[in-house]
Amino acid sequence: MQQAQIAPRRSKGRDDKPASTAAWQIVEAAVRPETTCGRLKDLCSSDPALIVRVLALANSSAFGTAIKTTDVEHAIALLGVQGLRNVALSFCLDDMTPRGAQGDALLTVCLRRAVAARALAAALGLRNASEHFTAGMLLEVGLLVHAGRDLDQAAHLVSVPAGMRLTSERGAGLQPHPARGAELARSWNLGETVEQAIATHHAPEPPDTELGRVAWAAERVAAVFEGGELTTQRQAAIDAAMGLGLTEDAAISVLQEIPACVHEAAASFQRAVDHQPDLDELLRDANAALVEMNRSYQRLVAELEQLVRDKERLTEELKVANGRLHDLALTDELTGLGNKRAFQDALARDLARAERMGQQVSVVYFDADHFKKVNDTYGHAAGDDVLRMIGETVRATVRQGDVPGRIGGEEFAVLLPNTAADQAVIVGERLRNKIRSAVVQGPAGPLQITASFGIAGDGGAGVGRRGDALLERADAALYEAKRSGRDRVCVAPPVG
Ligand code: GH3
Ligand code: MG
Ligand code: MG
Repeated sequence: MQQAQIAPRRSKGRDDKPASTAAWQIVEAAVRPETTCGRLKDLCSSDPALIVRVLALANSSAFGTAIKTTDVEHAIALLGVQGLRNVALSFCLDDMTPRGAQGDALLTVCLRRAVAARALAAALGLRNASEHFTAGMLLEVGLLVHAGRDLDQAAHLVSVPAGMRLTSERGAGLQPHPARGAELARSWNLGETVEQAIATHHAPEPPDTELGRVAWAAERVAAVFEGGELTTQRQAAIDAAMGLGLTEDAAISVLQEIPACVHEAAASFQRAVDHQPDLDELLRDANAALVEMNRSYQRLVAELEQLVRDKERLTEELKVANGRLHDLALTDELTGLGNKRAFQDALARDLARAERMGQQVSVVYFDADHFKKVNDTYGHAAGDDVLRMIGETVRATVRQGDVPGRIGGEEFAVLLPNTAADQAVIVGERLRNKIRSAVVQGPAGPLQITASFGIAGDGGAGVGRRGDALLERADAALYEAKRSGRDRVCVAPPVG
């Protein structure tokens, strides 16, 4: 026997009463075949407090015996060796359980299983109701062992729904209470059937023995009153009870009597228990929780809708911002014309189309004359004003569909789709005249400038791949315009 595990509680005493060593001796003696009722009576008599408790418990309907006697010898005779052992064992568990609210909560879960097992046994017409009571009471004894080490933790474990206790224990790194309880039952020589009932009470299927099957169902009955999803738990309890052979109505009756029985059983141990809500009350609470859940759900949906709206608005803003970024990446800040990249994109696109449509494309490439001098003489700001004027002039001169761009420093270009070189010359001349006659207000009076133009045209098969060549030919024509005196338009020789 390894009773050393619980010895401290036995020797410490509880409240003002001495711990009942006699109760333990009865448990020990009762498992030996040679023990007689007389021997047990002697053990009982050594502890007057125990006599009172044995009589109180044996007479209470909580234990399922209700033998109605005030004579201990008579009580023992009626209880029998095993019956007295069961009474003594219940006292031992009571002794193991700390006093106070947390201890009361712990004992309550033990008692709930005890009364559930007893009620199931009674409903089935089994004669050894006290055996079932004791086995039920032992199901959570593993939790009492946890409580000996860390009462707060054990109290937390009994506060979670019964079905989640194993997971909580594993999460806390504790040995699961069915295994711990079974070990304890073995050390107390309570027999293999009791051990197995404790070990398997959370198993998916009940064990083979009657005691184990009743205990397994008792666990499910008790779970109904310990939180979690009520409808599912209630059905699981009814199914478990029906698995034992009870009718659905009988199963429901068992469920209905549990709260009152827990109160009564706790009273026999002089323990206070919290209010034990009955099934109807649990159902009302569950419905209230459902209403609250619906409300929370509606709130969540509203929040979700707001989030979706926010997301859509942000997506739209992002799209606009991206578009702006895209424009910025393709726009020349000073003149507002497309930059070199935009011009090259347009050139590739329009040359491909020209090839498909068999059309001509021309490029007018031009550069301000002696622009450096403007900067040097009137300053960079005046130079910028001149460049802006050129930009505005180009924009105002070209047709829709033409693509003007600032290619670099004071170099500009206009892409003319569906336009042959001789037509482009007209555009170039028009631009040249407009630029040379435009007046820019400089710091020291009006400023004027001229520009030189190079024009190149292309079209027909393969033009889509000759974009770079087209620009180079226009640039060469521009160079020719500069070389031959500036302020003029030169045309590149046709391809071929
Ligand atoms: P050419 O007639 O041979 O073209 O002579 P140029 O002086 O116009 O040519 P050059 O290439 O020697 O000088 C171009 C000048 O343009 C030099 C540079 O400082 C100026 N420039 C380039 N970009 C800008 C700009 O954004 N703003 C201003 N104000 N000046 C610029
Ligand atoms: Mg220049
Ligand atoms: Mg230049």
